[in-house]
Amino acid sequence: MSEGAAKKEEKPRKFQAIRGTRDLLPPETALWNRVEQTAHEVFATFGFGEIRLPIFEQTELFARSIGADTDVVSKEMYTFEDHDLHDLNLRRSRSITDIELFTEPTNVGIILPYAKHFLTEAKQELTAGKLPRTPSNEFLLARIESDLEYLATVTDATPRDAFRDRRSELRRNMQALELGPVISLRPEVTASVCRAYIEHNMHRRERPQKGRYRQFYQIDAEVLGGTDAPAIDAEVIEMVMTFFERLGLEGVQLHINSIGDKKCRPKYVELLRAELSKVKDRLGADSQRRIETNPLRVLDSKLESEQKLIERMPHIADHLCEECAENYRGVKKELELRGVKYRENWRLVRGLDYYMRTTFEITAKGLGSQNAVCGGGRYDGLVELLGGPPTKGIGFAIGEDRLILSLQESARAHPGDSGSPLATRHSPLLYIAWMGEKAYTTAIRAAKNLRNAGFRVELPPLEQKFGKALGQADKLGARFALILGDNEVTSGQWTLKTLADGKQEKLRESDLVEHLKKQL
Ligand code: AMP
Repeated sequence: MSEGAAKKEEKPRKFQAIRGTRDLLPPETALWNRVEQTAHEVFATFGFGEIRLPIFEQTELFARSIGADTDVVSKEMYTFEDHDLHDLNLRRSRSITDIELFTEPTNVGIILPYAKHFLTEAKQELTAGKLPRTPSNEFLLARIESDLEYLATVTDATPRDAFRDRRSELRRNMQALELGPVISLRPEVTASVCRAYIEHNMHRRERPQKGRYRQFYQIDAEVLGGTDAPAIDAEVIEMVMTFFERLGLEGVQLHINSIGDKKCRPKYVELLRAELSKVKDRLGADSQRRIETNPLRVLDSKLESEQKLIERMPHIADHLCEECAENYRGVKKELELRGVKYRENWRLVRGLDYYMRTTFEITAKGLGSQNAVCGGGRYDGLVELLGGPPTKGIGFAIGEDRLILSLQESARAHPGDSGSPLATRHSPLLYIAWMGEKAYTTAIRAAKNLRNAGFRVELPPLEQKFGKALGQADKLGARFALILGDNEVTSGQWTLKTLADGKQEKLRESDLVEHLKKQL
């Protein structure tokens, strides 16, 4: 078949958005802009500045900070090996294919040349510093070498199971070799500057539903360094509450808790583990596993059948050490001083390992089961855990998608509310109706000047009869039409029509912008 014929037969493929992602389009994006603008304004008044970070980082960073036994790290990250070793990778694939063909000891000649070649090259790349010199890679290369040595000696007399096991091991070892750093799309963010905030898209491979996406947006802020005085916790919470208030977010509810620190939490965790173990048989599979791995996370459970059992568990507030209890009392007092209303929620432990003392979550209206619009807490140990100096830290992450959903729900409930964040604040549209070549040049100039002055202008790309142009202006909801024909160009007197009442005025080019500004 000729290339042309093949092309003809190829059916056009309809591309769909990746599951859990969606396009954000106008007019909705105007609301996103307004929300982000409000965040810039409010956060600036608290002395916060914006930072921007790369979208991916080493996977290990997230495993260490978030915790290996969190859903985010164990199931939801988009992770890949980022390597430049294209040829070595091809050789590895070819070697693995050969290993699969090696079903009889007499076939040993098939695998050895390729796999050996792969091993030699991999070692060279390790020396050249291109293959990451990690303990795991060094171990794997040594294993591959010994696997190959063993397989070179197999004969018909070698027990089948022994050689098959070794063959599988060789394949696994080759596959596990990391040809480059393993990196992940950012599922979570922690800034690294004192009083900073970030707007970012995050990626988590969760089951999509309303308010839960695989690419979602967060506005995060944190204070790193300085003191851990309760006033800092309260001020950070006050800032996010002020932001929500400024946006007119409805049904906002702040939940707080303290989860203790390195000294008192382990004792509570042991107590909780012991109490949960007593009812283990009546808990679901996830909670049963978490009793071993991370009992605090059982408190997060939404499973209906577990609620009664969990409600009977000991409360961490009754097991805090004196310093943590004092700190928690301080945070509550500081919130009261600022007029921030809160509700205590002893089950609020937050999913991530690095939190300590203050944890908080904010819920809003109209979101169904995914009603948390913000989560945060203190994480004094995190920077140290990642190899930095001991540093105090507190921060939060706002789920922007959910915030927008909630604002949209409220706007639907009160249509026509001009104070609503959904009310459009675009400047009114001005449509340029032009006819004739000279008028077109003038129209381009007029459009440029009006846009520079901040007006929204529609300049039709093709000539239209005036009647049709005015109809089009009406259809687009324009407030004004600027009529430019031969007469206008020759006389220098332009015609401005107000579409609502049909009123027409003659204006000089130099007066147009000022005249329009007065009408707004
Ligand atoms: P986290 O980092 O899990 O504490 O999340 C902070 C906030 O981000 C949550 O309170 C949600 O508002 C939002 N969020 C988390 N995961 C998702 C998701 N998959 N889709 C949309 N928003 C999310």
